[in-house]
Amino acid sequence: MITKAAVYRGNKTFSLEEKQVREPGPGEVQIKVAYCGICGTDLHIFLGHMDQRVGFERTIGHEMSGVVSAVGEGVSGFEAGQKIVVRPLDHCGDCPACNAGHEHICHNLKFIGIDSEGAFQEFWNVPSHTVHMLPENVDLSHAALIEPLAVACHDVNRAKIVKGEDVLVIGGGPIGLLVALVARHAGGNVIISEISETRLAYAQKQGFKTINPKSVDPVEEINRQTNSKGADVVFEVSGSRPGVDLMTAAAATRGRIVMVAIHANKPTVDMFQFFWRELELFGARVYRPEDYDQAMKLLTEGVVDCASFITDVQPLEAIQSAFEALTSNPSAIKSMIQISKVSE
Ligand SMILES: [Zn+2]
Ligand SMILES: [Zn+2]
Repeated sequence: MITKAAVYRGNKTFSLEEKQVREPGPGEVQIKVAYCGICGTDLHIFLGHMDQRVGFERTIGHEMSGVVSAVGEGVSGFEAGQKIVVRPLDHCGDCPACNAGHEHICHNLKFIGIDSEGAFQEFWNVPSHTVHMLPENVDLSHAALIEPLAVACHDVNRAKIVKGEDVLVIGGGPIGLLVALVARHAGGNVIISEISETRLAYAQKQGFKTINPKSVDPVEEINRQTNSKGADVVFEVSGSRPGVDLMTAAAATRGRIVMVAIHANKPTVDMFQFFWRELELFGARVYRPEDYDQAMKLLTEGVVDCASFITDVQPLEAIQSAFEALTSNPSAIKSMIQISKVSE
């Protein structure tokens, strides 16, 4: 059988190619991919920032949904046609992190869709341990948001938010917005700091208090809104220098800061505030299986307004222009590619 796949060829180029479908190997599940969202990491790959890691032969993509199409030797418990999502992490099973139960941040972690073949193709084989089954009634385009939503669940779980706490989310892109939604669901009073007016407008529509640090002093504003206490929990999702300055300046006494963003360069951090206010700093990277379970639950409960969160859905044939549009208009929330038509 011949199938279509988008292949990253370097130089901001995807080529749409036909290839032979590979049968699932031992321990693998073959998936017919329905939808795959475009992640910030995919954009980095497209822009050439990760060429050394990814190469020029790879089908990328990991924010997906689909149905089981076949199973390999030794795999049981799956039926063809069953709706699923994939938790795209392949761990080694024998390193200090794996042995301590932290498989999601395995020392030899392979991120499926970056370090190995991903979901911008019709048929995709993955290890069976990465597959999560979906309820029959979930919309597959919405289900493709479970991966980024699981990131947000993991971030919020690291912070252990208590009902009524003041929460500051620095950066209102797709992950920042999802962190805000999950934090609010956990009982936090959430303020989002963001500089893009389109993203601020979306956040306000979702009922969030917002700050644009370009027009007001964000620390003064947070102090004003919290009776000079500051934010009990701060999520740094912006990956920016001003974001790192704000995270310590806006944190309350004994505040918890969660580092969500990927800082490629080492930022200067105001360590004095850690001493002065007895702050705590938590790292949060990808997700654990239980974060996926929680994300599925929150999605089916309607915590995310999927219809407005998904800005556009385009066919696989349009992947090149979809990526080009996102690089020139970064204020879109979530662009999604429909990989194949799956009857629901
Ligand atoms: Zn992603
Ligand atoms: Zn490991």
